[in-house]
Amino acid sequence: MSAKHKARKRFGQNFLTDQKIIDQIIATIAPKHDDNILEIGPGQGAMTLPLLERVDKLSVIEIDRDLIEILESHNKSNLVIHQGDALNFDLDQFNPPIRVVGNLPYNISSPILFHLLENRDKVIDMTFMLQKEVVERMSATHGSKIYGRLSVMMQAFFEVELIFVVPPESFDPAPKVDSAIVYLTPLKVCKVDNIEIFEQVVKAAFAHRRKTLRNCLKSLLTQDQTQVDLSQRAEMLDIDTFITLAKDYEKQH
Ligand code: SAM
Repeated sequence: MSAKHKARKRFGQNFLTDQKIIDQIIATIAPKHDDNILEIGPGQGAMTLPLLERVDKLSVIEIDRDLIEILESHNKSNLVIHQGDALNFDLDQFNPPIRVVGNLPYNISSPILFHLLENRDKVIDMTFMLQKEVVERMSATHGSKIYGRLSVMMQAFFEVELIFVVPPESFDPAPKVDSAIVYLTPLKVCKVDNIEIFEQVVKAAFAHRRKTLRNCLKSLLTQDQTQVDLSQRAEMLDIDTFITLAKDYEKQH
């Protein structure tokens, strides 16, 4: 890490220092020179600089002004820097469709994922470093203890693939937990009609993991309004069954 910059915890700053891991991430992204890539949280440029060698143009969004100064000091003509909060950015300003990449700040990784979920039609694919535990939840299948709202929301819209695990020593400062690279591609055929309704049903279903769906969905749906057996718990339902539940709820509107 540069002597000039002290990592800021509140911005989730853990800088990648392991060249082998950086090379593996770049190989996973497999950038082509004319790709339209947006990097979230470039930091001091661990992934940015190797990407810049491979693409005609790279856009980045970074919240920390001190890091922007460091990035600017590289004088890269093909780097377009935006200072701001990745949670609020309007993807249209990056001329979609885009490929999104980033070693995401762990404290806000879920809100960033949900922001991108709402903008999925503008995205070609996404390659992210996240806490391993989060990637495991994103890719968990029904029946497992870690299958929950994040698994259903992600898998209903994306193909989710854990690519490889990254140990804490690959960063400075080292995080307390393992990380993992996840690769996400929007599903070609998405069966969800109404994302707000779907999200409402999924959120309610997992609000009390130990309770049955009959209990959790009490204010939304009763057993006579759906073929889905509501005596089960949410974690037993696959993605398609959640889609059915949301459709049955929508019919009541
Ligand atoms: N990409 C660099 C690397 O791999 O070494 C830095 C990764 S670090 C885990 C996360 C980066 O995201 C930091 O540079 C941090 O300042 C930035 N960041 C944190 N919150 C952000 C936000 N809301 N919007 C944009 N960038 C943010």
